[in-house]
Amino acid sequence: MIDELRDLEPFRDEVRSWFGRHVPADWREQQAGASPEQFAEFHRWWGSVLREGGYFAPHWPERWGGGGYSLLEQVVIAEELARADAPRNVLYQVSLYNAGPSILHSGTEEQKQRFLPPIIDGTVWCQGFSEPNAGSDLASLETRAVRDGEDYIVTGQKVWTSMALEADWCILLARTDSNAPKRKGITFLLMDMHSPGVEIRPIKQATGQFEFCETFMSEVRVPVENRLGSENDGWGVTNSTLASERGVVVLELAERLMRNGVGELIRSIGTWTSESGVPLVSDTCARELVAERYAEAAVLRQLVNTMIANIVGRGGVGNEASIVKLYYSELLQRLMNDAATLQGMEAQIVRPPLMSAGWESGEWLYDFINSYSWTIGGGTNEIMRNIIGERALGLPREPEVL
Ligand SMILES: Cc1cc2nc3c(=O)[nH]c(=O)nc-3n(C[C@H](O)[C@H](O)[C@H](O)COP(=O)(O)OP(=O)(O)OC[C@H]3O[C@@H](n4cnc5c(N)ncnc54)[C@H](O)[C@@H]3O)c2cc1C
Repeated sequence: MIDELRDLEPFRDEVRSWFGRHVPADWREQQAGASPEQFAEFHRWWGSVLREGGYFAPHWPERWGGGGYSLLEQVVIAEELARADAPRNVLYQVSLYNAGPSILHSGTEEQKQRFLPPIIDGTVWCQGFSEPNAGSDLASLETRAVRDGEDYIVTGQKVWTSMALEADWCILLARTDSNAPKRKGITFLLMDMHSPGVEIRPIKQATGQFEFCETFMSEVRVPVENRLGSENDGWGVTNSTLASERGVVVLELAERLMRNGVGELIRSIGTWTSESGVPLVSDTCARELVAERYAEAAVLRQLVNTMIANIVGRGGVGNEASIVKLYYSELLQRLMNDAATLQGMEAQIVRPPLMSAGWESGEWLYDFINSYSWTIGGGTNEIMRNIIGERALGLPREPEVL
């Protein structure tokens, strides 16, 4: 724990007690095998519980319906959510960590009035950035927005749009000037997902779920008043969005892995036996694996502490977020792989998993398959390595492809 957090013990007690009273002990059982509709219903309900307690948008200013908590208080809330093993607020991730902060940062007063209160009331947003030919190299995106009077007419395709099926709105990047250098011709739009011309096709994942989708836009009209920032200046707006995505979110994930993932593995090997009937707790290889993952979780804790201390000292997210994301996602894969291996044949019997609960389904094999998404989403690990190389180590930049 970093020193500054010690002063917040009374606040921590209050938060812990609140989550202790409000997190349903059987939420995993309630959610097992849920349909996408049941998943959305459950998470709308969980969002309303968090809202009641003031923990729905801890990082937003009070003026816009957020908790107005300091960064350190947000850290405490994230830690206590993990400790309580609460459901992750997955349905509202983009609404609260991407769309909202972008509007807060780059929106006009009128846009804030129009879009922020509905987010607090439960409007679901998705993020339409990636395309079939634009992922890591996002600036290569080809979706076009052509001005027609007071509207843009948007045509193109997005892919991997998480929660598109549930979303009411989309933060969308579209090219408005094909002749400008690629980062200079992009505009940031707020698109109503119920507009004529929007078509969503769910993508079945290796886990059998449909968390993300292809989103097709065929001459969709987006009013100019739904543009965030100036025309052709979407890249600046986007960068503020991605920075926000990588900071606090990664902290909560790391905390969950340390407290719950490793803890659950330690509890589990106490109940498993090898195929020859030997309890795994007395198997040297199994003990070594678990001890290794535990030690790595301790390293992750140090990395997270350094990240928090630096954010507090500097007031913003730095390179440490990339280091934590890289280390977290690869540790997650190792942990899930070991757990599924140690569980043995039983791991093959996958019961109906949770919809989009990340890796916390309680089914190790399912969680192992799902863990691969964490080395890709939010910027791939190769891109994280590039960022660390260039910004933290001062290595020469990659050549720019225009
Ligand atoms: C679970 C999940 C949810 C997602 N949700 C959303 C969403 O809601 N909205 C959205 O817009 N997108 C979303 N994405 C998409 C995600 O942002 C992209 O998958 C990611 O940016 C990588 O892009 P790509 O898939 O096109 O891979 P590519 O960029 O084509 O990369 C392919 C491979 O090449 C490597 N590579 C690429 N460039 C470099 C380089 N310069 N140096 C070294 N290696 C490189 C990559 O690391 C990767 O291994 C999601 C992805 C996942 C996994």
